[in-house]
Amino acid sequence: MFFLDATDVVRQPEFSLKQSVSLASFTSYRVGGVADWLALPKTPGEIAESLSWAQENELPVTFLGAGSNLLVSDRGVPGLVICTRHLRGLTFDDDSGALTAAAGEPLPNLAWKAARRGWRGLEWAVGIPGTVGGAVFMNAGAHGACTADSLVVAQGVTQAGEAIQLTPENLDFAYRTSSLQSRMCWVTQAKFQLSPGHDPAQVVAETHAALEKRRSTQPYHLPSCGSVFRNPLPHTAGWLIEQTGLKAFQIGQAQVSPMHANFIVNIGGATADNVLSLIRAVQDQVEEKWDVRLHPEVRLLGSFDI
Ligand SMILES: Cc1cc2nc3c(=O)[nH]c(=O)nc-3n(C[C@H](O)[C@H](O)[C@H](O)COP(=O)(O)OP(=O)(O)OC[C@H]3O[C@@H](n4cnc5c(N)ncnc54)[C@H](O)[C@@H]3O)c2cc1C
Repeated sequence: MFFLDATDVVRQPEFSLKQSVSLASFTSYRVGGVADWLALPKTPGEIAESLSWAQENELPVTFLGAGSNLLVSDRGVPGLVICTRHLRGLTFDDDSGALTAAAGEPLPNLAWKAARRGWRGLEWAVGIPGTVGGAVFMNAGAHGACTADSLVVAQGVTQAGEAIQLTPENLDFAYRTSSLQSRMCWVTQAKFQLSPGHDPAQVVAETHAALEKRRSTQPYHLPSCGSVFRNPLPHTAGWLIEQTGLKAFQIGQAQVSPMHANFIVNIGGATADNVLSLIRAVQDQVEEKWDVRLHPEVRLLGSFDI
């Protein structure tokens, strides 16, 4: 519950703060309603300040990176949304091969910059349109590699605005999961151990190849959240959905991609309700045929009736 409206007198914060902002343009799905408040901090200090402002005004807090793994409700998100995409900065330590990145840095940026220096270790990340913070939260990965493979340590901030260290041990990484998914604590910076000293042209060529492979097999041309469901090993979600005959199945303007069945794409003007209805329909039909309940990898923000 929150009690603030435009007529309330609020402390004028130092960080960028906007009221009633549509989140559709802050997500890769291009759907979703309005955030009551949106903060765009540029430094860890401004994040701590945003958190303290939310606490002062008794507002719930939600973090947003690039919004590439989110389905935001058509009704929007109550309280304060803190978007980290302006929290930028990359440092390469040539002596140790460590790359330190602010939470809002896009993963493809890390992959390309490391490749151009001849550093191996992040080629897999080039096609993942998320931020460093979102990658740690999700343990993002591709091509058999993931964030946990190279993360040395992350800096975080608690709800009380205290800085904390997050180690691989206390992040408790597993397949597309970290302990952050059940904690009120957020990433401000992460340090990765890479392997320097390779031929930059070779690493760049391999990074290009990884991106081209994804572009030719996945619907990068339409708004989506990437893979909608976790893979229920030993199967892949895409195979089960395809074998259930659901490729191109559509509800409203949300469609199971004909190119890759684990992608649900917005073919133009989809609502969040369209996407979630389709997710539920796919779960039900796959379960009926295979006796396997698919679990979403995409995170839901805000309230839904479906
Ligand atoms: C075309 C496409 C392809 C994709 N391919 C892949 C893939 O191959 N592999 C893969 O793993 N994913 C993939 N994804 C999904 C997505 O890019 C990843 O899950 C990514 O890690 C999400 O990062 P984000 O910054 O967009 O996080 P968001 O979507 O903004 O947020 C996701 C979750 O992370 C939390 N979060 C965000 N920032 C922070 C922070 N600083 N501290 C703590 N929590 C935070 C949010 O609260 C939210 O719960 C793909 C998505 C798309 C659109």
